[in-house]
Amino acid sequence: MATATLSIDLDAIAANWRAMDRLSAPGTQTAAVVKADAYGLGLARVARALAHAGARRFFVAVAEEGATLRQILGPGPQICVFSGHMAGDTDMIHDLDLTPMLNSIDQVTRHFEALPGHVFGLQLDTGMNRLGMEAPEWEAVAALVLEAGPELLMSHLACADEPDHPMNAAQLAEFHAMTDGCGVPRSLAATGGILLGPEYHFDLTRPGIGLYGGRPFDAARPVTALSLPVIQTRELGIGETAGYGCTWSAEAPSLIATVSGGYADGLQRALSNRAVLWAGETPCPVVGRVSMDLITVDISHLDQQPRSLDILGPHQGVDDLADAADTIGYEILTSLGARYQRRYIEGQG
Ligand SMILES: *Cc1c(COP(=O)(O)O)cnc(C)c1O
Repeated sequence: MATATLSIDLDAIAANWRAMDRLSAPGTQTAAVVKADAYGLGLARVARALAHAGARRFFVAVAEEGATLRQILGPGPQICVFSGHMAGDTDMIHDLDLTPMLNSIDQVTRHFEALPGHVFGLQLDTGMNRLGMEAPEWEAVAALVLEAGPELLMSHLACADEPDHPMNAAQLAEFHAMTDGCGVPRSLAATGGILLGPEYHFDLTRPGIGLYGGRPFDAARPVTALSLPVIQTRELGIGETAGYGCTWSAEAPSLIATVSGGYADGLQRALSNRAVLWAGETPCPVVGRVSMDLITVDISHLDQQPRSLDILGPHQGVDDLADAADTIGYEILTSLGARYQRRYIEGQG
């Protein structure tokens, strides 16, 4: 079988959630962000594992994800939708008991007209300029909105992964200015904000990437391992080239392994001639371009021909691979392809 195997450690995800929960200030609820198919790792398995670990509130990006999640979790856990209440969402929000985070006066109007009395939260913009009401809009409608009883006021930090960035303190001050005295539970911190310290935690934190083993939560247990089967090996003489465009040529007689996996599987073309794969403890450089389904790797220095090579594992986590591709761990995870055989590890502690 040439299909690569992606192992996803649900025990590690649960342990990471508990670790983030312990880091959150006493009395602060720790939610779990499972948007984008739980960062590409599989919504159903991941959400069930998190619910089992104790998560009672989940965040998704869009109502459709919330509807899927409700079918997975059943009634009980709270499911919040970052994109709020869009046209066409009303039935899903109502029937599947979703909590929209309303982002604008338009959304407030839509929600109050379509579903009066239905639970909702508010997203406020404290400087990221992406989603949420800005201070003047909020001031204009705050009294009316607060009377309707929002269950959460939230905002999002733009630079939380850079602890010394002045934007953090500026957004914290703006969040206080917009919400102090409202008497409604508040949430500002995702993974990066949790690590900034308790003054960022308020009543609820919303970790995502930290659960899945990514920066900036350096203490996270690794979650993913990805092993690519070797389909074929061949000897190259000096001057022979590997792959499209002949971007690499052998400077010495070389043994090249062709492994199953490529940019169609989320292993970006930017990894060409840059990444390494691992044969157990031994790094092996990618040579030539990553193609759609295949990667060529120099294994000249190995004693034995490997049956597979690891591209994610103990020696190379999602952020290491992200560095090689000039991107971030979030993008590596959410790009992981549909072709892998997914193996979930659970119940081993
Ligand atoms: C994605 C997201 C999160 C989770 O962020 P991480 O950095 O993955 O912890 C929290 N809040 C909002 C608004 C988000 O969009």
